[in-house]
Amino acid sequence: MVKADAYGIGIAQAVPVLRAMGCRTFFVALPEEGRLARTVAPDAVIYVLNGYLPSAEGLYRNADLRPVLNTLETADAWARGGDGAHCAIHVDTGMNRLGLSLHEALILARDPARLAGLRPALIISHLACADLQDKTMNAAQLALFNEIRAEFPELPASLANSAGIKLGGDYHLDMVRPGIALYGGAVAAGGRPMRNVVTAQARILQVRDASAGEPVGYGAAERLGRDSRIAVVAAGYADGYLRGCGSEDGRKGASAVVRGRTVPLVGRVSMDLITLDVTEVPGVSPGDWVELFGANMPVDEVARAAGSIGYELLTGLSRRAERLHVNAPELN
Ligand SMILES: *Cc1c(COP(=O)(O)O)cnc(C)c1O
Repeated sequence: MVKADAYGIGIAQAVPVLRAMGCRTFFVALPEEGRLARTVAPDAVIYVLNGYLPSAEGLYRNADLRPVLNTLETADAWARGGDGAHCAIHVDTGMNRLGLSLHEALILARDPARLAGLRPALIISHLACADLQDKTMNAAQLALFNEIRAEFPELPASLANSAGIKLGGDYHLDMVRPGIALYGGAVAAGGRPMRNVVTAQARILQVRDASAGEPVGYGAAERLGRDSRIAVVAAGYADGYLRGCGSEDGRKGASAVVRGRTVPLVGRVSMDLITLDVTEVPGVSPGDWVELFGANMPVDEVARAAGSIGYELLTGLSRRAERLHVNAPELN
């Protein structure tokens, strides 16, 4: 799964690495992402999850992209305009998001001429609650999907996202579609993260002493409970660091790691800056690097402080941050 620029990492960097590790099929959300993936994976199969978008018809052909069809109307449009190229069929099994309804899937399955014009090469569905390990919902979706895919006996089937893979072999079928697991996020709610992939760092610009009772940052939203040393760090919401990670009186924010120590944010997140309470860390100086998230501070833990998930933090990192891709020899 390399949608959203490979979860913020960069399609141009992630796809060649995954390809070198044996991945031959990629999924993106948008045709434009597919075009980018095609430039670095000339021989891969690339599926576009958002379907067959009429505004981008030429792209599917020119970049050899396969739409994941989710309505009968777009299925018929693909049969007419797809030049005989393959596609996938997405069936909704209870999420009420993208996909043919069961009824529509049956209409298609029982119309061999329509199906022949379509040339599907894969049938997929998507789990709503895999990360919650909600046994009832997951089992119900699996059972429905097994029923519906039996109507398309020729087609390989795919159901599991990262968390779905962990539900066990029943969910693996012919192909799995991991996303977040490849990029170091936690696969199950509250679960352990995978091995870290993305590290976000920023530098300390200034260190200052402030007295108990004084406020820090916009809105004077947090007042210091003790005499404190404050480190001002060059990262803010314009870099994609979530504004909800800020701290105020009565509500703790996220933490970061300075000189090997975990320290809390103090005050709100600004556009370009955050402030950390480094009172207990000796020797903190301007120029020091701060780990905002990474091996020592799970991306999901930081996101949780903002009421969010690691996916949002990863995909929202802005272009302002300089990116270094390391340990990817295939790229050199
Ligand atoms: C995003 C997505 C995935 C991957 O989900 P992760 O939780 O990141 O593994 C799989 N399938 C579909 C349809 C998706 O939209």
